[in-house]
Amino acid sequence: MSIRIESAKCVGCGRCTDVCPGNLLFLQQRKAVIRDSRDCWGCTACVKECPQDAICFTLEATLGGAGGRLYAQDSAATLTWVLRLADGAEQRITVNKQQANAY
Ligand code: SF4
Ligand code: SF4
Repeated sequence: MSIRIESAKCVGCGRCTDVCPGNLLFLQQRKAVIRDSRDCWGCTACVKECPQDAICFTLEATLGGAGGRLYAQDSAATLTWVLRLADGAEQRITVNKQQANAY
């Protein structure tokens, strides 16, 4: 998996650049860009932080089908992973954050 930044959706808020633990993301002309995607280890912090659905993971064929994209919709109580396949099909997995940490 690797991240993909959709520039047309990016509003330049800088939230992704603040959370990347590898300092891989930066703003260029008010759009987020990644220095070298090969350095990304897929921690998902930027995907979860982006309020615009501008960052997703692209999925390999063995995971979600070629062209599939994985987005995150974060809220105070839940985190929803949204899988959009190339054919338009969509699947969602919603995690209750409090229950996820209750083990
Ligand atoms: S997935 Fe993690 S390591 Fe990769 S660019 Fe996003 S925040 Fe940085
Ligand atoms: S968090 Fe999303 S909208 Fe904000 S700068 Fe990063 S990619 Fe753009």
